[in-house]
Amino acid sequence: MPRIKAAICRAFGAPLSIEELDLRAPLAGEVEVTLEAVAICHSDISYAEGAWGGTLPAVYGHEAAGRISALGAGVTGFAVGDPVVVTLIRSCGTCPNCATGRPTICEDQTGPHGSALTAPDGTEVVQAMNCGAFAERVVIDTSQIAKLPEGMAMDAASLLSCGVITGVGAVVNAAGLRAGQDVVVIGAGGVGLNAIQGARIAGARRITAVDMTEEKLAIARDFGATDGLLATSDKPWKALRKATGRGADAVIVTVGAIPAYDSAPLYLAAGGRVVMVGMPPSGAQASYEPVVSAFMGQGMIGSKMGDVVISRDIPWMVDLYQQGRLKLDELISARWRLDQINEAIADTKSGGARRNVIMLTR
Ligand SMILES: [Zn+2]
Ligand SMILES: [Zn+2]
Repeated sequence: MPRIKAAICRAFGAPLSIEELDLRAPLAGEVEVTLEAVAICHSDISYAEGAWGGTLPAVYGHEAAGRISALGAGVTGFAVGDPVVVTLIRSCGTCPNCATGRPTICEDQTGPHGSALTAPDGTEVVQAMNCGAFAERVVIDTSQIAKLPEGMAMDAASLLSCGVITGVGAVVNAAGLRAGQDVVVIGAGGVGLNAIQGARIAGARRITAVDMTEEKLAIARDFGATDGLLATSDKPWKALRKATGRGADAVIVTVGAIPAYDSAPLYLAAGGRVVMVGMPPSGAQASYEPVVSAFMGQGMIGSKMGDVVISRDIPWMVDLYQQGRLKLDELISARWRLDQINEAIADTKSGGARRNVIMLTR
């Protein structure tokens, strides 16, 4: 079994430690990917701090890109050497949700094979979020990868696997936004900036960012917002209604804050939809007024990972990036080595919306 270097979590809240682990060969339906870049997502940090529970020891990391280095039995459509994006979206292909084109909410995401990682003392190590990508290599299910064109920069590609598809997909897939419609994006962070890009790509008329500081609103404008409202101002939805004359067709909530969820329906036009993306702590409750939703024909829907089908959606996003119509490089704040991962995590916690990327080929 090959030994790989990985950043492992042995206690919630403690720094990750760089250790050598054993990675078993890919089994039926799996591939081994030698990683070149992995971005740090806020979900990795929440897990490593113990916010959502889980078993330890574990390797986090789920926004990655690299090249296929081995194929398990029965894998078709991919070859050793192919550049790919690695995602956490594992799907069985046959459950009712997969069968209707919604693999992000597959009902059987565990798969048959279990973790591919063990410590040298024989202890099983959890591949968190089906990935375990804070590592030199991963063994994952083939449903989790999408092919990249040769020459695509791996740092930019790694961002496609989570924050970008979640934000862009919330607008183009979940909200089904059409050209000329009005959008509000609450939260101009990592996912929010990508929802704003999605709205621009979809041809939205007004794209209004709502956030806590003028600085965030200025960044939102760089990514395509046409308007900005401070969440701290008095009833900002009134300004939105005045500007649009009717309210928004879609309100994308990209932060896990209850005040954001409480205010979201107030921005809606008749017939509009709130798309729920940001994840508050378990048990937190938001409120809304059912009579308004009923009378105005409004709705609220949840969206996980942008409702994407990776083999359908990643290729067009790559094309738009290469044409200069989807910003990826601008989302990267810094590049780090694997042995600097704790510094990179600290920077992500203290910093703004942009991503820190670990480059594994350095
Ligand atoms: Zn993520
Ligand atoms: Zn399924």
